[in-house]
Amino acid sequence: MDGIKAAGRALFGGSFNPPHVGHLRLAIEMAETLRPLAAGVELTPCATPPHKVAGGLLPFDLRAAMVEACLDGLPGLSCNRMEAGRPGLSYTWDTLRACREETPERPLFFILGSPDYALLPHWHRGLELPCLCQLVVVPRGEGSEKNFLAATQSMWPGAQPCEPVLPGSRRMRLPGGGLVHFVPLPWISVSASRIRHRWLHGLNVDFLVPRPVLDLLDAHRETVLAHWLPEPRPD
Ligand code: ATP
Repeated sequence: MDGIKAAGRALFGGSFNPPHVGHLRLAIEMAETLRPLAAGVELTPCATPPHKVAGGLLPFDLRAAMVEACLDGLPGLSCNRMEAGRPGLSYTWDTLRACREETPERPLFFILGSPDYALLPHWHRGLELPCLCQLVVVPRGEGSEKNFLAATQSMWPGAQPCEPVLPGSRRMRLPGGGLVHFVPLPWISVSASRIRHRWLHGLNVDFLVPRPVLDLLDAHRETVLAHWLPEPRPD
């Protein structure tokens, strides 16, 4: 197989409500880290999140448009709108299964932050996701690597460390044969909740979100105000 056809896919799911520099730096550095195992990173906005979104969710098209606006000129990064085409709740299980069916010959990776990784037992078929893809966990907060090892052992007792294949990473093999990676990328202390809070209070969000995101939020001000709800101060 030639390089591109053989290369895998890497999905990075999120609500992207809105996308911010934490998401984007992570996507850029993961695309570099996964090369040549994956051809790039597909930022995949969640259409209908299964869990309640505390701060109010912007319409899918606006969130996807913000993601697309950020990716202009960034090689290897793309926006995957596949969840919009599916009725009902957007389960990651269904998304990854559909990818497997689309491209069965290509390895599949799913990237997620360490706090979300620890919550997999609460996701629909969360503990079965490694049957469909390799999970790639990235830090979000201090002590993430220790938490990764503990969370992996507790979710899949008998998981064993194995030879890493991604630069500077840890890798574990699960009893059923699945693989999970921990990639210690630097993380930026920013969240969409903090950005929503600041934007709703008229506070400056420059450099927390790329300029095209800010422009879209301003251009769709009425829609944004109709969807985002005031939340308790997140920091
Ligand atoms: P919210 O504050 O609304 O909960 P969020 O900032 O966590 O949103 P999401 O779109 O829910 O953003 O996150 C998508 C994925 O990106 C998740 O796996 C999350 O852990 C990860 N992520 C979000 N922000 C960061 C960050 N600053 N550093 C590393 N990972 C992040």
